[in-house]
Amino acid sequence: TALQWSQLGRRRCMAGSQGLTFYKGLYTVSLIEGDGIGPEISQSVKDIFAAAKAPVKWEPVDVTPQLKDGKTSIPAETVESIKRTKVALKGPLATPIGKGHVSLNLTLRRTFNLFANVRPCRSIAGYKTPYDNVDTVLIRENTEGEYSGIEHIVVDGVVQSIKLITREASERVLRFAFQYAQDVERLKVRVVHKATIMKMSDGLFLGTANRVAKDYPNIEFDAELLDNTCLKIVTDPTPYNDKVLVMPNLYGDILSDMCAGLIGGLGLTPSGNIGDECSIFEAVHGSAPDIAGKALANPTALLLSSIMMLRHMGLFDHAQRIETAIFDTLAEGKTLTGDLGGKAKTHEYAGAIIKRL
Ligand code: NAD
Repeated sequence: TALQWSQLGRRRCMAGSQGLTFYKGLYTVSLIEGDGIGPEISQSVKDIFAAAKAPVKWEPVDVTPQLKDGKTSIPAETVESIKRTKVALKGPLATPIGKGHVSLNLTLRRTFNLFANVRPCRSIAGYKTPYDNVDTVLIRENTEGEYSGIEHIVVDGVVQSIKLITREASERVLRFAFQYAQDVERLKVRVVHKATIMKMSDGLFLGTANRVAKDYPNIEFDAELLDNTCLKIVTDPTPYNDKVLVMPNLYGDILSDMCAGLIGGLGLTPSGNIGDECSIFEAVHGSAPDIAGKALANPTALLLSSIMMLRHMGLFDHAQRIETAIFDTLAEGKTLTGDLGGKAKTHEYAGAIIKRL
């Protein structure tokens, strides 16, 4: 499994890494430590990067929400930092439920137009799950769909929430998916949809996929209904090990958590939010308020996100070295955090990785 993962790292598998800020031998990366367990798991990444001599200078940025005229934004200095560095690592950010400010995660995606969310899920040797051979790659449209935030009250007791699909955003993420498939030599792309029911919106996504596929004749292309994908992937994930799955926003959000469940949970799954100008890498999990401040958090997902980030930046050798140390530590199974059945504190697990560098 570690080998499969690292093979991806031999080539640049993300778009848009041009123009990074490089000064005195170091690349500057904006760092959003995040809420809850965010500071603890960010510390592990910083310690491991320092021990591995990764040429990264962290630029901590603040994302305290700014509410103006009913709109949520992030501080101007943070926008400036990420626009300049072009790459950020982000801890989880808590979102109030049903009221309060708009999700900062959504705000970041919108502010920087991070149109593609890449979520790989691979089984990790040493952690026993119902399947030990999962290797899915899911690409989620990240800017519209049900997450457009267009909601209103029609009359008391009746609300409307609009699912927005545009040809432009669909084509952008679909082209990214085909290009990604090409770059990592995973030459099968499957669109996941519900165009049987959402004939116009998902129909537009699917129709655009059919058109984009014609520009990639070497890539096998097909489509599958979301419910069918869910059923098949939990029954036997192996047929998905050679495909790149691409889909509208909400489906990608849910299906990627399901894939995370197949490999042992949210503590292990990384992601990259990719745009033309900049990219933000983050764990799939949230701020885990139930375990925050107790040194119980598993930093693996943020670490694997930071490895995706290193590869995105072209720092393959550093990525490889840190990744091998993580997988070897997990495979040995002696120093694992509680979510993986161990007793190690967050910093003890990070220390075990550092010893292997
Ligand atoms: P969560 O992912 O924070 O936690 C779900 C469960 O998984 C909890 O039991 C938690 O302890 C556990 N868990 C999560 N990450 C872990 C880790 N690294 N190590 C060990 N255990 C871990 O989901 P939630 O409780 O639904 O959400 C909490 C907050 O996070 C909410 O405010 C939500 O909006 C936010 N959130 C943020 C992001 C993001 O920043 N991208 C993503 C999801 C949720």
